[in-house]
Amino acid sequence: MATKDISREKSAQLFEKAKNYFPGGVNSPVRAFKSVYGSPLFIERGDGSRLWDADNNEFIDFCCSWGPLILGHNNPEIREAVQAQLGKGLSFGAPTRLENELADLILTHNKYIEKIRFVSSGTEAVMSAIRLARGYTNRSKIVKFEGCYHGHSDSLLVKAGSGLVTFGETSSAGVPKAFADETIVIALNDKEALEKVFSDFKDQIATVIIEGIPANNGLLIQDKEYIQFLRKITKDNGALLIFDEVITGFRLGFEGAAKYYDIQPDILTYGKIIGGGMPVGAYGASSEIMSNISPDGNVYQAGTLSGNPVAMAAGIAALRILSQPGFYEKLEQTTQAFVNEIQSFITEKQLDVKIFTVGSIFWFAFATSERIQRADQIDPNSMLYYKKMHRELLNRGIYFGPSGYEVGFISAAHTEADLATALAAIKDSLLIAFEA
Ligand code: PMP
Repeated sequence: MATKDISREKSAQLFEKAKNYFPGGVNSPVRAFKSVYGSPLFIERGDGSRLWDADNNEFIDFCCSWGPLILGHNNPEIREAVQAQLGKGLSFGAPTRLENELADLILTHNKYIEKIRFVSSGTEAVMSAIRLARGYTNRSKIVKFEGCYHGHSDSLLVKAGSGLVTFGETSSAGVPKAFADETIVIALNDKEALEKVFSDFKDQIATVIIEGIPANNGLLIQDKEYIQFLRKITKDNGALLIFDEVITGFRLGFEGAAKYYDIQPDILTYGKIIGGGMPVGAYGASSEIMSNISPDGNVYQAGTLSGNPVAMAAGIAALRILSQPGFYEKLEQTTQAFVNEIQSFITEKQLDVKIFTVGSIFWFAFATSERIQRADQIDPNSMLYYKKMHRELLNRGIYFGPSGYEVGFISAAHTEADLATALAAIKDSLLIAFEA
């Protein structure tokens, strides 16, 4: 049975104020809770797997700041590393030993890149990777996939036009058509579209960019064979393959989706987890490709706060923990067990919902019995079920991302007891979501 709504009085007051300051009252659109019930919860603090909002409601958090918090909130090692750095200064705009240390941790555990450059967000990492690919190939067109998100740089705020292979249309006002004309958007999991793109735009394509495992518009797990085909066709045509691992990097393991699919992309982008919760992004490639970046090469890219010492300290502390043997195996087993229990319940109750999972990521797909691998397989009307479930979950102390297109994350801070509590809440909420 549906429960009483939690108190949202203080969050609602803060939101009213925030609307005077920020467009839509927020500093990133999805936070406005527009696709689910009500207005956003204002968060006061987090600890381990838990979050507390301004009305002192307590939640088990499965959003995990959209992925970075693989160790949960307020991890003691990260906190201490950050505190130690705070006494030494916040930013120097000069090299520090911390950048070396984080790079060393990454490069010694990741065979897919030889050199790396730190930036301050995933958007910046991807924008820079695209410029590098264009500079390296001396070509200008890029190909992206419908259903993949790569941050909000102009070239990537483009959605598919009509037809198998057409120029994209801008998906945001303010992006000149000339940018969209350089970006071709095709469907995922479609070899024919890839073949056509390379025959239509022969020798013009600088790069094809794909999310390691698309996880921003549902969880669209691609077949290994398809990704290997993508690797081959890009190579055969002299285009670079960018694997955007802002979510999957250090989430599926140190070697992310590249290892999962067993392919060598040309450029890889990272963010989220490598900053331990602080703002960071990075891109990396072979030494040869990276030698094109300034000051060695003529592809310009820079940043006042790049390699910020506080962010580096947080990243080092996080990655030291993640590099311990067995860390990822344990997290994956925990996630699998959790997901299996949800799936058994779904099967037992014959609910029209499927749960997809990889590593410690999971996603509910409503009103479908298909394996979903392309964006157009998701029925927008199915989001109504998510909306209902989301409200019921909040009322039971479970915090999921405020959109049915978003995935959930399990962190190492989620205890068995947390997951048992969440499971019971998910079962109740799923049943309510399907009530007429
Ligand atoms: N690429 C991917 C795959 C992402 O998931 C995101 C953010 N969710 C970005 C790029 C952009 O990163 P940021 O929000 O840090 O700019």
